[in-house]
Amino acid sequence: MINIALFGPPGAGKGTQSAYLVERFNLIYISTGEMLRREMAAGSKLGEQARDIIASGGLVSDEIIVQIIEKTITENPQAAGFLFDGFPRTFIQAYILDGLMMKLNTSLNCLINLKIPEEVSVSRLLERGKTSGRLDDNETVIRNRLREYHEKTLPVLQFYRDKGQQHDIDGTGSVEQVRADIVRILQQELDKNLFNLVLFGYPGAGRGSQGIALAEKFGLEYVATGRMLDEEIHSGSETGREIAALYENGELVTDEIVVRLIEKKIANANGVKGFVFKGFPRTLVQSYILDGLLRKHGSGVSMVIDVAVPLLEVVQRLDARSRTDRRMPYDSSTDRIVKRLREHENKTVPVIDNYRKQREVLTIDGTGTFDEVFGRLCHAVEDGIRTLR
Ligand code: AMP
Repeated sequence: MINIALFGPPGAGKGTQSAYLVERFNLIYISTGEMLRREMAAGSKLGEQARDIIASGGLVSDEIIVQIIEKTITENPQAAGFLFDGFPRTFIQAYILDGLMMKLNTSLNCLINLKIPEEVSVSRLLERGKTSGRLDDNETVIRNRLREYHEKTLPVLQFYRDKGQQHDIDGTGSVEQVRADIVRILQQELDKNLFNLVLFGYPGAGRGSQGIALAEKFGLEYVATGRMLDEEIHSGSETGREIAALYENGELVTDEIVVRLIEKKIANANGVKGFVFKGFPRTLVQSYILDGLLRKHGSGVSMVIDVAVPLLEVVQRLDARSRTDRRMPYDSSTDRIVKRLREHENKTVPVIDNYRKQREVLTIDGTGTFDEVFGRLCHAVEDGIRTLR
């Protein structure tokens, strides 16, 4: 998600720039001024309460503002992001915004301050007043709005400056120049977003080799629990010995162990652009755990792919592998192969179905050569990254 607030005095160009940004970055636009004007036009109670204040150039109460934006925010948990225009306008509203964003487990990325001198603001608004039909675009009210801006709204800047989340832009340039400056900042913010891919598929569908190749190509960290468990055993650590004992008894490794390992992996992965998860989550419980782990880093699952290979082909592939030195301990007999496939069907297929209920799960055809499948996967991931960024 990317959540941005456009800030600046009346007439700074927030509305003009927003129209483009909303379209280009697929954001939900929240302009409190526009929402209030809509309420007034509809003759609602809220609109009537706000009318006189707006007409005089004052600020509408924080209570009214919360009422008009809360619904839009909480009703759009799957949004790619929000663009706020004219909000937060008081430092109280900055706290309100924090609280509302928290409800969606997200936060404001940054505030972009369009700077223009007072006289530019006045002349732009007077010009706009000739056609806008807005009851507050006349000189007396404009001066009032600017006074309110200096007294109540400017402290908001300090709030975000203290958090290191404020960017200044010269708002006097052409629409295109200002737009380019804003886009650059948004792009930087988007580049900070992690791209997290969960790769599903039956054992033998090729997730392992494809996952490693995808991670390398897109600068992601490959997280395969099976491999991590093996590494831990070989490291001879305390946890490694615990895992080995569980393996010998034919038992599943506990979530406590797996989660600790993944947590460590995520925390130590500095500078990566995201993660490819393979073999995790394997159960519904683990899918909740993954959400929690990623949320801790202000992130979430970005894309879920199911690599589809017909069951008979999967059996054939696993059987063939069992006769090579790429053989895994668990493909050594038909009995074990079938057990593993059944385990996948019973435990992991419901996880995929659960993801399907919440979001799009891409099914990628996993038949054909490695390069053919890799090509299809790359295509999907590129699209996914483009949407995220
Ligand atoms: P705008 O379209 O952003 O220039 O807003 C027009 C008018 O709506 C302002 O002068 C205020 O009276 C009112 N308004 C808009 N947003 C807010 C807000 N966040 N808090 C208080 N009043 C607001």
